[in-house]
Amino acid sequence: MEKIETRKDVAQVLHMNGGTGETSYAKNSLLQQKAISLTKALREEAITSLYLKKVPRILSIADLGCSSGPNTFMVISEIIKTVENLCREMKHKESPEYHFFMNDLPENDFNSIFKSLGSFKEKLSDEIEAETGPCFFTGVPGSFYGRVFPTKTLHFVHSSYSLHWLSRVPQGVENNKGNIYMARSSPSNVLKAYYEEFQKDFSSFLKSRAKELVEGGKMVLTLLGRTSEVQYSEDGCDIWDLLALALSDMVSEGKINEEKLDTFNLPLYQPSPSEVRLEVLKEGSFTINCLEISEVHWNAHDGWNAFDSKSLDSVGGYNVTKCMRAVNEPLLITHFGEAVIDEIFRRYHAILIDRTSKNNVKFINLSISMTRNE
Ligand code: SAH
Repeated sequence: MEKIETRKDVAQVLHMNGGTGETSYAKNSLLQQKAISLTKALREEAITSLYLKKVPRILSIADLGCSSGPNTFMVISEIIKTVENLCREMKHKESPEYHFFMNDLPENDFNSIFKSLGSFKEKLSDEIEAETGPCFFTGVPGSFYGRVFPTKTLHFVHSSYSLHWLSRVPQGVENNKGNIYMARSSPSNVLKAYYEEFQKDFSSFLKSRAKELVEGGKMVLTLLGRTSEVQYSEDGCDIWDLLALALSDMVSEGKINEEKLDTFNLPLYQPSPSEVRLEVLKEGSFTINCLEISEVHWNAHDGWNAFDSKSLDSVGGYNVTKCMRAVNEPLLITHFGEAVIDEIFRRYHAILIDRTSKNNVKFINLSISMTRNE
């Protein structure tokens, strides 16, 4: 069990819980699914204008940070439906061929994705009830902060709930004691280090995609963010503060070593809209079509699918603790060990229930749609 430090470490350690079991990402990613459904219109607009302008015979589309589970397929089937409708409306003789690239870090459970391809295709053909263009699927392991595709080979890049993950824990945050991310009590050097790492990573992301997208290619990205321009803000940091609280309760009871908590910092950053905009402008290869803020309640069932429950307790198998566990468990196990993991999430769950009963708690999503300049 080592402290997570280098770029290489994050790429080796970071992954969502694989498989399709009770604690898997596949079974506990309703919240992320809701965020994807909120940006449907952005994707439709982008893919429609791209397709009508280029009419490519082979449409190359990448989902970056696809993880495993139904969400990546939801995006893919929606894109196919949009393009097939366009072909019908435009009376094109033939649909394009679709080449989907599913990218994630090498530790991702790519096998689960490939195993569900058959049922995805069946479901899609039931829904569309007509022949679509042939679809090809390729898994692409590697960090999207570097090059993962050849030059000018992609028409459309999608990424949801992935870009708030940094390529590494920011350097020089050793004095962020008792916290695991930017918190109210974080020293200013910690806030600065987090922001600088975000700038570096996001600009590397943009540079790589600028090379890989064709001119006029489109990109729709959604990431966790915050509304406030102040770096520490409750809507961007609360959910992590509360995890730190669960950990520090266990430190005070001697169940976790204090030094362990002090040396743990999450490799993520939730930017403000203007921080995102600034990096796009600085990099210079993309035109921003729109930048939107949306919200998802911590309990993703809230007000969705006509189901309105304020309870965080398991509802139809879902609760926000399970979702946070599916996302963060591998990172936490690497640092704190397997023995304490159940208790960490038991305590976190109790804290989250308490907080949700008092506040209107939500995740802030930033979605940005861009075009690669010609
Ligand atoms: N897009 C899916 C999954 C989001 S989970 C959805 O919306 O449900 C975030 C995913 O991003 C994880 O699978 C994680 O491994 C991946 N990820 C984080 N950093 C990455 C990087 N640098 N390169 C590629 N994938 C990354």
